[in-house]
Amino acid sequence: PRLANQIAAGEVVERPASVVKEIVENAIDAGSQRIEVELEAGGSRLIRVRDDGIGIGEEDLPLALSRHATSKIASLEDLEDVSSLGFRGEALASISSVSRLELISNAADDPAGGWRVVAEGRQMEPRVTPAPHPRGTSVLVRDLFFNTPARRKFLRTEKTEFGHVEEAFRRLALSRFDIAWVLRHNQKVVHQLPAVASDQAGRERRIGSLLSRRFLDEALHVDLEATGLRLWGWVGQPTHSRAQADQQYFFVNGRIVRDRLVAHAIRQAYRDVMFHGRHPVFVLYLELDPRVVDVNVHPTKHEVRFRDGRLVHDFLFSSLHRALASVKPNDAVA
Ligand code: ADP
Ligand code: MG
Repeated sequence: PRLANQIAAGEVVERPASVVKEIVENAIDAGSQRIEVELEAGGSRLIRVRDDGIGIGEEDLPLALSRHATSKIASLEDLEDVSSLGFRGEALASISSVSRLELISNAADDPAGGWRVVAEGRQMEPRVTPAPHPRGTSVLVRDLFFNTPARRKFLRTEKTEFGHVEEAFRRLALSRFDIAWVLRHNQKVVHQLPAVASDQAGRERRIGSLLSRRFLDEALHVDLEATGLRLWGWVGQPTHSRAQADQQYFFVNGRIVRDRLVAHAIRQAYRDVMFHGRHPVFVLYLELDPRVVDVNVHPTKHEVRFRDGRLVHDFLFSSLHRALASVKPNDAVA
């Protein structure tokens, strides 16, 4: 079973960034308003995520670390409309099988309350001990892959791993404007983002601190709606620069997505308005009835399945086409 856990861990735990994503998604699911992520040595020495969500009670604490234990799905019917980011009950079990994991949580308002459980490479310390913690949860992941040297060898430099973490953080912070975020690396604050109002000005404040200033200066704000679909966000000046080419963020009902159909519609729109050869840059949010899209196709691959793919494709294409027609390519800066 230990080996099986470690193999399964490979599915969701590839590097520090994937650990951060899973733990932060749990914090989001717990209804947190403030999430702090702290790393040491690119996350390979320490990843600490602290939230102010609903917390985990004393009896549930060991359960949170066991495989297939989830509090988010009670029945098969629930699978039909999962609104939480997690529901498989695998992430914490997988992470704890390849690290030294500590879970401290308090589900009550009593600030002196709180409990702690520790696991080390699947060896769970059976005792749950008292540990004061404000309402919410802290997850500490130390020495990632300490017991799987082959995988540890695949970790890149501290800088590279932190870069991946920062990118994961960016996506998460772009998915929830209403949450306050902090990212620290080696004791230094890298991002400190207050919660912002859900209007254009508030959101642009968040975007301005996460992406390049230039993106926002040149971007066009779009907000279009048709046949039960809404597309809003920012379309930037298409760029020749490879460095900026990765500024492509597409969310479906609040979740980051990398989908072939979406990518195709965007590419077609750019081609059509003669932005050929330039890289699209955008932060876009597609909203539609959750019953006509399945966002849980794969735990890590960010694919989606639309019930009416053609409708979505055509809507994206025509919306972007319209928006891009009013963004003139700026050759002076190209
Ligand atoms: P999943 O998210 O798929 O349910 P996880 O392994 O990620 O599985 O988490 C297991 C369980 O631990 C969750 O279902 C939840 O009950 C609990 N849990 C984990 N993190 C938190 C958190 N930050 N706040 C509250 N509960 C949490
Ligand atoms: Mg989870």
